[in-house]
Amino acid sequence: MTWAATVLTLFPEMFPGPLGHSLLGKARLNELWSLDIRDIREHGIGRHRKVDDTPAGGGPGMVMRADVALAAIDAVERAARPLIYLSPRGLPLQQARVAALAAGPGAILLCGRFEGLDQRAIDARAIEEVSLGDFVLAGGEIAAMALIEAAVRLIPGVLGAAESPAEESFSHGLLEYPQFTRPQAVEGLSIPDVLNNGNHKEIFKWRQARAEDLTRTRRPDLWALYEKKKT
Ligand code: SAH
Repeated sequence: MTWAATVLTLFPEMFPGPLGHSLLGKARLNELWSLDIRDIREHGIGRHRKVDDTPAGGGPGMVMRADVALAAIDAVERAARPLIYLSPRGLPLQQARVAALAAGPGAILLCGRFEGLDQRAIDARAIEEVSLGDFVLAGGEIAAMALIEAAVRLIPGVLGAAESPAEESFSHGLLEYPQFTRPQAVEGLSIPDVLNNGNHKEIFKWRQARAEDLTRTRRPDLWALYEKKKT
């Protein structure tokens, strides 16, 4: 079955953008996943297709109208797909959630603009909010692309067997070990000896130790979770 992404956006021309390139682009041509882009403005109000208005209670900027967003949402066939609003107030996206999404039928992604979406649209359809991280973007489109890219690359057949996601960062709760390739020496820096000796058990041990070092020093939050799981 084809993994189906539907994106609701005020900027449909931004898509497929990066999602049309490289392995993801090829996988889309091979129908391993599909991308359905919907223009929210088609549901705008009146001759000018108005999609936003000033914030109730005052303040700067504009707010996306709930009636417009709901009309755009309701025009999409859900088919058991999760409905997600990309939002800095959401739960920050993590690999476990990405893997769960990739294992499902797809996702419907609503991209905000301006000061964000009228709360009533979120409440009326119990929309899940997902954040790309603790920073503020100008719109949800790049966040939607990031979510789609992260999920689609986990769909079987999208990455070559050689690029299996099984060992990468977060897959076991650790950051990935450092990678090296030819040439043997760059500016006097050489590849660690252990990687040249062909002893797979030693290489595995070295990589595990480096992954643990990196995680402990860079991401104490991940390290604490990892330690808890081990015991
Ligand atoms: N006023 C809002 C930010 C609006 S930014 C606030 O302070 O919470 C405009 C749109 O960009 C949002 O509606 C959302 O769809 C998107 N966006 C901004 N930052 C994001 C983030 N970290 N993750 C996902 N989407 C984000």
